[in-house]
Amino acid sequence: MTAPLLEAKQVTKVFRSGIVQRTEKVALENFSLTVDPIQPTILSVVGESGSGKSTMARLLLGLEQPSTGAILYQGKDLRELNQADRLQFRRDVQAVFQDPFGVFNSFYRVDHVLEVPIRKFGLANNRSDALRLMQEALGRVGLRPQETLGRYPHQLSGGQRQRVMVARALLLSPKLIIADEPVSMIDASLRATVLDTLRRLNQELDISLIYITHDLTTAYQISSDIIVLYSGVVAEVGAVERVVKSPQHPYTQLLVGSIPHPDPDHPWSDEPEPSPLGAQATPGVGCAFAPRCPHAFEPCLKVEPPLYQIHPHQAGTCYLYQNEPILAWKDMDTVFQKQQAPTKQADNQADKEVIPTQR
Ligand code: ADP
Ligand code: MG
Repeated sequence: MTAPLLEAKQVTKVFRSGIVQRTEKVALENFSLTVDPIQPTILSVVGESGSGKSTMARLLLGLEQPSTGAILYQGKDLRELNQADRLQFRRDVQAVFQDPFGVFNSFYRVDHVLEVPIRKFGLANNRSDALRLMQEALGRVGLRPQETLGRYPHQLSGGQRQRVMVARALLLSPKLIIADEPVSMIDASLRATVLDTLRRLNQELDISLIYITHDLTTAYQISSDIIVLYSGVVAEVGAVERVVKSPQHPYTQLLVGSIPHPDPDHPWSDEPEPSPLGAQATPGVGCAFAPRCPHAFEPCLKVEPPLYQIHPHQAGTCYLYQNEPILAWKDMDTVFQKQQAPTKQADNQADKEVIPTQR
């Protein structure tokens, strides 16, 4: 059996700070994931700000070390890769970050961000070779090379800049792109084009995508599977069709409920009243969501809930499902469908689709 392209094995990341009064922040806990080496997939990771999404991305990219657990690339611990494997890892796994402005140096033409990897990885033999590679990559992301090369960053829109960043990732023929909130800083009107580009790369070039967002709607549109994080802990995982249309964890229900509603008189659902018991929760003990949870009851205040398998394609960390079988953390991604970009987007219906709310 071929080893997974990339694998997170029960990864926990704790940030420690302070010298006199040491504080610990568990940014991510018990996170397991495998990225298939052959079948391309699209997975979304969703959660509000501070829920550990970027920490997860940085761990998978080897930019951050796990406190416990390990990240493996083709079966080998990222910390122990030899030089050749490390180089291959840095080609196979590419990142697209949130800020399409920060990466550009305003004094250089946009060509520069494409030239750097070509030079660094020795992708071209001469200038015309390099130009051909840049043109090909730009074409792949729907940009006209003659309208893009030679320009300065401020002459491009946010969406175009982010597509240049995707083109840059493509130069290295990656197998996986980890996109951390790639559209959250660009105009709403341009988001669809960037997301569509990412989806096409998955479908046409067989590149897997981990799409990180705080926005459940785009996650639903683009991915086949989803992980919902709350305060560093997995709240719910599964097939996106199950998790978004029939959310079981109270936090996911809250997220789904806060998607703008088509009824103009009730544009947003109100957050339900938390259970009075939640107010008695001790921070760091029991379920992290208990203080906000409308259903919190005794067990929630004592021990952190395990992952319960609620459906073949859905699991959640909530005691409401304590009669269901427990799913071991290392098996958390067995609930995924592991498919390419869902075809529901092919006809661009997704933008019009209304996600039914649960409550
Ligand atoms: P998200 O991307 O979902 O907004 P992050 O992964 O950036 O969340 O952060 C998760 C938690 O970890 C936050 O509480 C954040 O303050 C903390 N954190 C992230 N990076 C560091 C760091 N380098 N040092 C200390 N705490 C950090
Ligand atoms: Mg982040």
